[in-house]
Amino acid sequence: MHRPYNFSAGPAAIPEEVLQQAASEMLDWHGSGMSVMEMSHRGKEFISICEKAEADFRQLLAVPEQFHILFMQGGGLAENAIVPLNLSRGGAVDFVLTGSWSQKSLKEAGKYAQAAVAASAEDSGFTRIPDAAGWKLNPQAEYLHICSNETIHGIEFQTLPDLRALGSQAPLVIDFSSHVASRTVDWSRVGVAFGGAQKNLGPAGLTLVVVRDDLLGRALDICPSAFNYQTVAANQSMYNTPPTWGIYIAGLTFEWILRQREGALEGVAALEARNRAKAELLYGAIDQSAFYENRVALDSRSRMNVPFFLKDESRNDAFLAGAKARGLLQLKGHKSVGGMRASIYNAMPLAGVQALVDYLRDFERSAA
Ligand code: PMP
Repeated sequence: MHRPYNFSAGPAAIPEEVLQQAASEMLDWHGSGMSVMEMSHRGKEFISICEKAEADFRQLLAVPEQFHILFMQGGGLAENAIVPLNLSRGGAVDFVLTGSWSQKSLKEAGKYAQAAVAASAEDSGFTRIPDAAGWKLNPQAEYLHICSNETIHGIEFQTLPDLRALGSQAPLVIDFSSHVASRTVDWSRVGVAFGGAQKNLGPAGLTLVVVRDDLLGRALDICPSAFNYQTVAANQSMYNTPPTWGIYIAGLTFEWILRQREGALEGVAALEARNRAKAELLYGAIDQSAFYENRVALDSRSRMNVPFFLKDESRNDAFLAGAKARGLLQLKGHKSVGGMRASIYNAMPLAGVQALVDYLRDFERSAA
C-alpha cells in the first residue's frame, strides 16, 4: 500500500524515504542522544549536517564556486523585500510580470527602489511568458526580477533569459521557489536565485538563496543585519539561528535527489526527465478530453503546477470529493484562479500522475 498522492502546491509532498529516515532518526540522531531539533546550531553535529546540505545542494544544481548558498528564513515573500534591500541601492529595478508572485515582488520592491515593469503577461491573463525580444529593459536597472515558475497560474520559463544577449548588464534575479531542483539551472545567466523550501526541498521555514559574490556588499543601510546577504554569507548562514530542522530535512531531500536515476541520467537530470514525462502525461490527458481544459500556451506550461478546469464547473465539488476518496489529495485550484490545480513536484512519482489521469478519465465517464 502506498500513501495517498498529495498534489498540494506547498507545503507539499516530501519523498517517503526522507520522511522515514527522519522518523527513524527523530529521537537520536546518529548516536548523539539528541533529536536534530534539540541540537545547538553551533555544535559539531549540526554543523556537519549543515555543511553536507550545502555541499550536496551545490553538487545537485552544479552551483559554481563564485556563488554563495545561504540558508535563511522568511520565505519567498520576505525575499521580495530582502532582494531590493540588498541589491537595489535605492535605484531603478525592472520586473517581468507573469502572475501573482511577480506582481507581489514588484509591489514590495517599490518600497525600497524605483520598480518598473519591463514586460507583462497580464493581457494574456497570465497564460504566456512574454517574448524576451519585446522586453523594455532599463539600462540603469540594478537588477531584473522574474518568477521563473508561477505557481498559481502554472506558467514557467522554459529557459532563463540571457540578459547580456538582450543588451543589458543587469543581474538577473529569479524566484525559483516552485521549481527549484526540478530542472538544471544555467548559472551563467543568474545573479541571485531564491526560493522557499516547502515545495521541492522540504518543510516550510527554510529559504534558499544563491547569490553571486560580486553582488554582496551593496545593501542599503536600513537592511536588517539578519537579512544582509554579506553578513549571512560571512557567518556561513549562522549569523542568527538558522532553521535547523528545515536544513536537516532539506539535506535528506538533497541526498534523495542525488540518488535518483533515470536510465543513464542522475540526480536533477533524472528528475527533469521524469518531470517532463509526468507533465506530458497529465497535459496530454487534459488536452485530449472535451471535459477538462488547461488555458496556458503550450510553450509556457509549467512542469510543476498544472491548473485545469472542468468545463462544467458545477461538478467541481463532486470531482474533488471523488478524488479524495481515491487518495488523490489537495487538487483544489488557487482561489484567485479557481478550478483545479495538480502540483506534481519532484516527490510525485509517475504512478501518482497516472492515478490522477485514470481518475480524470473515470470521472468524465461517470459524468457522461
Ligand atoms: N514565490 C513563489 C513562486 C511561490 O510559489 C510562493 C508560495 N507559494 C511564494 C513566492 C511565497 O512564498 P512564502 O509563502 O514562503 O513567502
